[in-house]
Parts: sequence; C-alpha cells; structure tokens
Amino acid sequence: MDIEYRKNEGIMIREVDLAFIKIHILYHAAEEEVYGVGLIEELARHGYRLSPGTLYPTLAKMVRLGLLTFECRTVVHKQRKYYRITPDGLAELDKVKDKIVELYEEVLEKV
Ligand SMILES: [Zn+2]
Repeated sequence: MDIEYRKNEGIMIREVDLAFIKIHILYHAAEEEVYGVGLIEELARHGYRLSPGTLYPTLAKMVRLGLLTFECRTVVHKQRKYYRITPDGLAELDKVKDKIVELYEEVLEKV
C-alpha cells in the first residue's frame, strides 16, 4: 500500500499507518457496510490521504485473506462494491483490540 509521505516523516510511521488503516477498515466494516469512496472520506477525516489506486488493492487483499466479503450493487447507475467483515475478520479485530489495549496501557497510561 502506498501513502504519500514527506521526507523525514518517520521510518516507523508509515508501517504504523498501514496497520492503522487496515484496523480502521476492519472496524468500520464491522459497524456497517462500507464502500471505497466512503472509506477514503472516513480515512481522510483521520488524516490518511489514500487514493482509490491504493485503497482498492488493500480491500481486495483483505477479501483474499478472508477478513472481508463484498456484494456488488448498482447505485445511481454505478456498480459499487459493499464490504462487510467476516467472522474471521471479527476474530482478527478482537485480537487487534486486545493488542491495542495492551500497548495503550504500557505506552500511554503512566499510572
Ligand atoms: Zn475510522
């Protein structure tokens, strides 16, 4: 997946962002049906600038991995793919949530 980056933005940030973007996709696909343009807007809200050429291969890969399924529907004369999370995707999301909590508690909660 390719995201635009300025030089010196940080070596790790890119890797973290790639993972975070996938987590956002899983999370939103668990909440409701999602589609490409909607996800691009949602991710932009979080500061991730993704092009369709970047997002769609990611969605296709997540479908191949069994994390998402999709259904084609025609909306205003345009074919659109609507994605939903699968049971495997939900299990994966739960594991990720546990990891987020653990990391958060260690790194950010200085109690
Ligand atoms: Zn989000």
